[in-house]
Amino acid sequence: MFLIALGVSYLTSGAERIPRVEPLVTEEGQAVVFDRITWQLRELAKKLPVEQAWPQGQELERALDRFGLASNAPPKAIPVPAQIAPDVYLVGQDRVSNLTYMVDCGPEGVAVIDPTYESEAERTMANVEKCGRSRKEIKWVLNTHCHVDHAMADSRFREAGAEIMVHAEDADAVEKGTRVTAYFLIEGVSSFPRCKVDRRLSDGEELRLGNKLIHVIHTPGHTPGSVSFCIEAGGRKLLFSGDTVLYDYRLGWQGNPYADNRRYLASLQKLESFTFDSTPLRWDLLLPGHGAISMDKAYLDVSKARELVADDLDGGREILSVPFSTRHYRERMYGRPPVALPR
Ligand SMILES: [Zn+2]
Ligand SMILES: [Zn+2]
Repeated sequence: MFLIALGVSYLTSGAERIPRVEPLVTEEGQAVVFDRITWQLRELAKKLPVEQAWPQGQELERALDRFGLASNAPPKAIPVPAQIAPDVYLVGQDRVSNLTYMVDCGPEGVAVIDPTYESEAERTMANVEKCGRSRKEIKWVLNTHCHVDHAMADSRFREAGAEIMVHAEDADAVEKGTRVTAYFLIEGVSSFPRCKVDRRLSDGEELRLGNKLIHVIHTPGHTPGSVSFCIEAGGRKLLFSGDTVLYDYRLGWQGNPYADNRRYLASLQKLESFTFDSTPLRWDLLLPGHGAISMDKAYLDVSKARELVADDLDGGREILSVPFSTRHYRERMYGRPPVALPR
């Protein structure tokens, strides 16, 4: 009898066994869940004098070693699945650089945000199951944008019964598998699996998904139909930002042929001064499409992104997606105290 009872509680309380993400507190007082390379390059920028060239290739390995950053670093990828906030989980990815989220919307089902590459679909669905929900309960797939590394698995999730949602300006790319999805830039990917879009999203829309309310904010620039999603959880504002805002000056890749830097800046200004019911909103958590996750003070990341894009546009400089080797970044970081790792 005891064993049977134990088995039942094991099945019904599956989600309770999912570990929570483990943030570190930075020298800025921000709680951040790091992947290894973000932590290493950030710490290196604090230690390597600005006048020394930023190391490349094998030299980078040696530099990390020299400053004691090669070992005793955070895991390569943030372990999945993990719980981020009440009803919000990280369900991928540990093999590719993208981040996939699940929002538990109660008895009606769950939403998956950015299911990424087709190759990861099975693992993502298995992680949803580890969080205590079946793959049949994945009712909605929300895409921050149409790029191959965010939306390629849409067709697999639709086959499994999910409704696919993409902003109207990126929807054709997903339905027709056009070059806006940037599939042709990924080695080994010769086409984008076309997928019918069930719901074309628009700015300001409020999605009522089960017991959750999700706000759609159109933030074009990285792609024409890039959006950010806002959810409130535990009294805090969560920003699912795709490739529009990433942690600590990392930006969207604007080298893609459908990027628009002026629209990008306007979108970042919109997020920075965002009001809700005419009250200014302060972003708490940043859940981006790649890299590290900010567990608080996400408004810092939004402001940094706006500042850097404005600065680059003013100076006629190229907008770089990875900031670590730039003078702008290194001058701000050099000499700062390290982020302490747990022993
Ligand atoms: Zn993208
Ligand atoms: Zn991306």
